[in-house]
Amino acid sequence: MAVRHREMTEKLYYKDAYIKDFDAVVTAVSGNKACFDRTAFYPEGGGQPADHGTLMLSDGRSIQVTDVHEQGDEIWHTLSEAVPEGIQVHGCIDWERRFDHMQQHSGEHIVSGMICSAFGCDNVGFHMGDDVVTIDYNTRISYEQAQEIERQANRYIWENHAFEVLWPTPEELAELDYRSKKELTGDVRIARFPGADTCACCGTHVAFSGEIGLVKLTSAHNFHEGTRLELYCGRRAMDFLSMNYDANKAVAVLLSTKEDKTPKVVEKQLSEYVKLKADGLAMEDHFFKMWTESLAGQEDVLIISDWMNADQGRRLADMISDSCKGFTVVLTQVSEGSSYRYSVINKGADVSAFVKEMNAALGGRGGGKGGFAQGTLNASEEEIRSYFSQLK
Ligand SMILES: [Zn+2]
Repeated sequence: MAVRHREMTEKLYYKDAYIKDFDAVVTAVSGNKACFDRTAFYPEGGGQPADHGTLMLSDGRSIQVTDVHEQGDEIWHTLSEAVPEGIQVHGCIDWERRFDHMQQHSGEHIVSGMICSAFGCDNVGFHMGDDVVTIDYNTRISYEQAQEIERQANRYIWENHAFEVLWPTPEELAELDYRSKKELTGDVRIARFPGADTCACCGTHVAFSGEIGLVKLTSAHNFHEGTRLELYCGRRAMDFLSMNYDANKAVAVLLSTKEDKTPKVVEKQLSEYVKLKADGLAMEDHFFKMWTESLAGQEDVLIISDWMNADQGRRLADMISDSCKGFTVVLTQVSEGSSYRYSVINKGADVSAFVKEMNAALGGRGGGKGGFAQGTLNASEEEIRSYFSQLK
């Protein structure tokens, strides 16, 4: 058996984070996973998701790279189908996805560097999801404080500082003031946005801070003993702000006002709404009282309404039953057609037998306890009226 000599995969993404395609040789295969002599595909690590992309084979076929992982010195690519060892491949990374990761990751560095130096805290968690990036710090930070950092970070971005990578010797590293999430061994890669952040990091970054475009912090809330920030960078920040602008614009059109006036107009309309609702309830109460008085002393009462909702029907039934001796039945139409909600009340009596018969005759469901029952009937108004008239 031949002893295979595996060389470590050359990490082209460290040589140049902007390499979008490259030639390589497949050096090892395991199922639908393959290892190359060199790759520009970034493997998941340091909170940055793996690159995706395609592999072009010499026979013209193109297959998908769906995941990438680092194992020891080798980078393993998960492929949509297996490839043989020894062949030449041409890899193309999904640049839109990668550049988005570079924007999120680089923006996170600048924000975290500024927060950790302003508040003397540590970054204790980082998650780059498909939507928002979340960052956790071990100190309390208010939203207003986060907004001040956002202003500083955007200023830094627009000043277009050049990004630097350092590979310090252990002696140089000992002298260096840098952020790190864990104890580091071996060669340490230091990622630096001069004046904003120096951090041990294995991810890919933009070459100039200006490429981040902008950062937008959307929330700072208490998380364990510290704070969780939600952050959008670059294109995601633009998409997020556009989505919110469009939503506010739609509200402004509905309110016939300008975008910056929507909160004031909504506030005014809400207080008007609250007053109207109270007025409506007071009027309804007055009306129900008059209705109840007009029925006072009657034995049984049947009301079928096409305008009341179920709550109103129940309230009216309750009021009427106080001044009637027999059964009070209030039906409110659920929708156009033959479905009604009922409230049946006979205070001091048991309505269950009455309701059971009514349900059986009129396609009803529901019931209750003691003097009160509610449910639905599936019958037309004529059917309901004729059923109740023959009860007499
Ligand atoms: Zn980084």
